[in-house]
Amino acid sequence: MNAPPRPGLLSIAVPCFNEQHSIQPFIAAITPVLEALGRRYEIVFVDDGSTDNTLPLLVALASTHAHIKVISLTRNFGKEAALTAALDFVSGAAVIPMDVDLQDPVELIAPMVAKWQAGADVVLAHRQSRPNDAVVKRWAARLFYRLISKLSAIPIPENVGDFRLMDRKVVDCVRQLPEKTRFMKGILAWPGFQTETIEFTRPPRQAGSSKWPLWKLFNYALDGIFSFSTAPLRVWTYIGSALSFFSLGYFLWVVVKTLVLGIDVPGYASTLAVILFFNGIILIGLGILGEYLGRVFIEVKGRPIYLVRSKVGFGNKD
Ligand code: UDP
Ligand code: MG
Repeated sequence: MNAPPRPGLLSIAVPCFNEQHSIQPFIAAITPVLEALGRRYEIVFVDDGSTDNTLPLLVALASTHAHIKVISLTRNFGKEAALTAALDFVSGAAVIPMDVDLQDPVELIAPMVAKWQAGADVVLAHRQSRPNDAVVKRWAARLFYRLISKLSAIPIPENVGDFRLMDRKVVDCVRQLPEKTRFMKGILAWPGFQTETIEFTRPPRQAGSSKWPLWKLFNYALDGIFSFSTAPLRVWTYIGSALSFFSLGYFLWVVVKTLVLGIDVPGYASTLAVILFFNGIILIGLGILGEYLGRVFIEVKGRPIYLVRSKVGFGNKD
């Protein structure tokens, strides 16, 4: 190999919420893969306020395995916050965020590390197909990526989740983004750096159930658009300008018509239709403004993204 190999710890960052049935299979699958790499590694689990046996299981694992560490959050903060916590506490030279449900294949870790060794700072895992997703979900995902790639100022890679390898310098950049609305697809893509891609097919969940019903995904998509684009605000400048332009034309036409043909009283239905239509338009505009105002409100409060209840496996200094 010509490129200088990158030494140092490999960190796996794993958010967990009510995953008591997924943890053992995850450990069983990932351990041989990590051991085979022949480098130091750590697995940092973040318990996102689970109400089942997840936390005791993780703590037991951490007490018997030196390379397993656990951060326990005070309540459920959501996957994005849990992943943010994980990125704050990992100490690796390279970091791979993974879901615990084995939907992110462990076989990809070795090729990711190889590409990182060869010089890539980010190695994305690109989902080739979504054969296990419902048609509606696939279709919605397509539409979302098309929309956001048009609207957002930074390129957000299509069909790439949080599963990726990031070099330490990329993680440090990601950690500088303080926003409270954690649209991770965008946040992780924001730093850029030299990026490589690996293709894979996403398998179905091994155990437990997904916490992402369709309505939640829809809200997540809106979060993405409102967090990474101001186009929805700007569009009102265009709509307003176009409407004013047409209104002026219509006004002139009405004046001329009145001067030439005299006053023409009928027109109740059309007046009502116009009023209702424009009230609708104005309310949509207000709603969009509200979306951004709400986000400014959340940011201005400056509350922490997550709260840590306890840490296990991080040594005595904690
Ligand atoms: N997760 C979490 N907090 C939550 C929801 C999910 O930490 O509030 C974790 C979950 O335990 C899993 C990962 O995030 O490790 C992905 O969750 P899920 O499998 O439900 O999402 P999907 O794969 O359907 O996108
Ligand atoms: Mg999953």
